[in-house]
Amino acid sequence: MTELRIEGLSKDFGTFRALDNVSLDIPNGKFVCLLGPSGCGKTTLLRVIAGLEAPSDGRVYVGGTDQTNVPTHKRGMGMVFQSLALFPHLDVAKNITYPLAIRGVDKAAQRARAEELLDLVRLPGLGARRIHQLSGGQRQRVAIARGLSINPQVFLLDEPLSALDASLREHMQIELRQIQQSLGVTTVVVTHDQTEALTMADLVIVMKDGVIQQAGAPMDLYHRPANAFVAGFIGTTNIMPCTVADGAVSVLGHSFPITKGDRIATQSGAAQLSVRPEHVVIGGTTEGLAAEITFLRDLGESLHVLMRVGDQEINAHLAPGHGHDLAVGKSVNIRFRNGQKVVVQ
Ligand code: ATP
Repeated sequence: MTELRIEGLSKDFGTFRALDNVSLDIPNGKFVCLLGPSGCGKTTLLRVIAGLEAPSDGRVYVGGTDQTNVPTHKRGMGMVFQSLALFPHLDVAKNITYPLAIRGVDKAAQRARAEELLDLVRLPGLGARRIHQLSGGQRQRVAIARGLSINPQVFLLDEPLSALDASLREHMQIELRQIQQSLGVTTVVVTHDQTEALTMADLVIVMKDGVIQQAGAPMDLYHRPANAFVAGFIGTTNIMPCTVADGAVSVLGHSFPITKGDRIATQSGAAQLSVRPEHVVIGGTTEGLAAEITFLRDLGESLHVLMRVGDQEINAHLAPGHGHDLAVGKSVNIRFRNGQKVVVQ
């Protein structure tokens, strides 16, 4: 069942078009990440979904009902803002139940709900604390609990974890995903962090300049990117200009046959070749591209090898135990693993 449907949404700020004909179907209970570089329109899309911003064109449906002209507080949506927007003059429990208080829910029910949510976000017993007495991660949890207090049909979060340090952020990504799964609430999160999106999402929506570039499961986007932008934005990759003709891909003056499993978007003409660093093979052949090693970075779990072919930089990631014979300045031959070439327009 489609819980959230966005149909032909556009948003203009004066002459600037921040969203351009965005359409999406988000199934019930899914966790969706809006991913893209700064200024691509993620927050604007979230705000239009929430009713905090009116679209210039298009419609928003929740559970099949048109919500486009419904005011924010009647949309049944929970929100967590990047700033968290917690109230310092209220204790934790009252922060959490604030959305219930303004809807006139009685005090006993509010207290019961606060207890329930404090347990859910793993802050039992902290209801009487003030916000300034909490750590960053605990504040984050309070904001999440407040967003969930009304039992929303749709839960919207704008960069909810961006203020946390890397290790706490990773921990909270997992926790947020677990909370979402336990409740089964349809959730949309804005992020510019691809690892965050890959960690949490059932569905990733990649945006650029107000336009959806691709929507799909994380591994679909990773293995079958729709274009060079998505290929470069999800994971790391080598993007090289190429030409496709007669069952082969020519790149940097060398022709590689198209093999089973390669994903080739065009049968002929100029395009872009994307090869993930783990699919670049060094040595073992006199065939292939002649490259020179420019940098080596041993991370223990993998060896990163930076190479140059003319003006093109190529990255390879080798599994532990490989590449002992490599050194900066050494000339090597490289090829791409069969079935792992991706040609995009
Ligand atoms: P970030 O990751 O930096 O938060 P974003 O993808 O969320 O970026 P938005 O905040 O949606 O981007 O903004 C999209 C574009 O719309 C930007 O160019 C921004 O400057 C512009 N914009 C957003 N709100 C307004 C506004 N109220 N008036 C004019 N322009 C706006």
